[in-house]
Amino acid sequence: MSRILIVEDSPTQATLLASLLTEAGHEVLTARDGASALDIVEREPLDLVMTDIVMPGLSGFEVCHRIKSDLGRRDLPVVLLTGLSDPRDLIRGLQCGADNYITKPYDAERLVHRVEQVLASRRRQRSPGNGAVRVEFMGETFDIGAEKEQILDLLVSSYEELVRTNQVLASRTEEAEEARREAEKASRAKSEFLAMMSHELRTPLNAIGGYAQLMEDGVNGPVTEPQRKSLARIRRNQEHLLTLINDVLNFARMESGRITVQPTDVPVDALLSGAEELVRPQLESRKLEYRYEGGDGGVTVYADRERVLQIILNLLTNATKFTDEGGEIRLSWRVAGDDVVIQVRDTGIGIPAERLETIFEPFVQVEQRRDTSREGVGLGLAISRELARAMGGELTVESEPGKGSTFTLRLPRSAS
Ligand code: ADP
Repeated sequence: MSRILIVEDSPTQATLLASLLTEAGHEVLTARDGASALDIVEREPLDLVMTDIVMPGLSGFEVCHRIKSDLGRRDLPVVLLTGLSDPRDLIRGLQCGADNYITKPYDAERLVHRVEQVLASRRRQRSPGNGAVRVEFMGETFDIGAEKEQILDLLVSSYEELVRTNQVLASRTEEAEEARREAEKASRAKSEFLAMMSHELRTPLNAIGGYAQLMEDGVNGPVTEPQRKSLARIRRNQEHLLTLINDVLNFARMESGRITVQPTDVPVDALLSGAEELVRPQLESRKLEYRYEGGDGGVTVYADRERVLQIILNLLTNATKFTDEGGEIRLSWRVAGDDVVIQVRDTGIGIPAERLETIFEPFVQVEQRRDTSREGVGLGLAISRELARAMGGELTVESEPGKGSTFTLRLPRSAS
C-alpha cells in the first residue's frame, strides 16, 4: 500500500480520483490547492503526489518544481494530470522534474496502471543526475533538470498516449465508415423497393386502361352516352396515375443507379419540331398559344434521344400546367459554343426567387396548383436535371413571378 497525495481544486474530481486509488489499495490524502499540498508534503510521509495542472494559486508545474527543488524531494514522484491541449505541457513537465503524467479524460484502469508504473520505477535504483539539459521546443528554450530515467518514462508514456489516441481515432473512423455504408444500403433498399412497387403497379393499371378503352369502343356491346363519359373519366385518371407511377419508377431507378443514358448524334431540329404533338391536348384544353423557333437542320447533340424527349415533355407539360388560359408557350433552341441551348418559355405564374433551386429537389412543389387533375408528385424536375447531367448537360431556370418562367436545357454538341 502506498500513500498518495491528490492535489485537485475540483472537489468532484478529487473524490473520484481518491475513490479510484483507494479501491486500488492505496491510502489517499487530498489538498485543494498548491500551498496546502506543499504543507502536507513537508509533514507527511508520502510515496507519490498526483497534481492537476490548472489550479487557482500555484499551478501543478509550480507545485512539482517546489517539491523537487525548494523542498529537496527529488525522490518523491510527481504525476501531472493534464488535458495535454498544449504540447508544451510535456516539456514543462520535464522542466519542473515531473515523473509522469496522465491525460484527461482518463479511464480508471489506465490511471491505476500508470500510478503503479511510477511507484515501481521509484523503487528501482535511480541513476544520479548529471546536470540540466537545455532544449529548444516550439520556439522556446527549456532547461531540463530531470533524470534520464524520468525523461524516458515520460517519453514512453507520451508514446503510449499517442498510440492510444490513434487507436481511438482509427476505431471512430471505422465506425463512421460503417454508418455510411449502412445508410447507403438502406437508401438503395428504399429505391429498389420503390422501383419494384411502381413496376408491379403498372401492370394492373395498364389492364384497367385497356379494358376501359375496349368498352368505350363498344367491343362488349353498345355504350350509352353517360357510360362513355364515365369510361373516358376512368381512362383519364388511369393515365394520370400511370404518369405518377412512372415518375416514381424513373426516380427510384435513377437513385439506385439503374438508369443509363445511351448517347448518339441526335439532330436537334428534327427532334424538337415534333414536340408540339406531345402536348397538343393540353394546349388545346387550356387555350394556349404554342410557338416553335427552330434552326439549322444539320446541328446535332450528343445525347440520348428518348431522355431528351422525356425532359422536353416534362418542361412543356409543366409550362401548360402553370400557365393561365390565353398564355403562350415557346420552345426554341440555338447553338452556343460547344453546346446547344434549348429553352422552354411560358407566360405563366412564375416561381418565387427563393424557390428557384428547391424545385429541382425531389418531391418539392411550390404550391398546390389550381387544376388538381394534373397534379404531379414533384419529381419531374428532379428527374430531368439528373438526366441532363447524366448526358453531360445542365438544366436551369429563370423566372419572374406573374410574368413567366424560362427553363434552359444545355446539352453538348456532337464532336464534328
Ligand atoms: P410536378 O410538376 O410533378 O409537381 P416538377 O418537379 O415537374 O413536379 O415541378 C416541381 C414544382 O416546380 C412544381 O410543382 C411547380 O411548383 C414548379 N414549377 C415547375 N415548372 C413550372 C413552371 N413552368 N412555372 C411555374 N412553376 C413551375
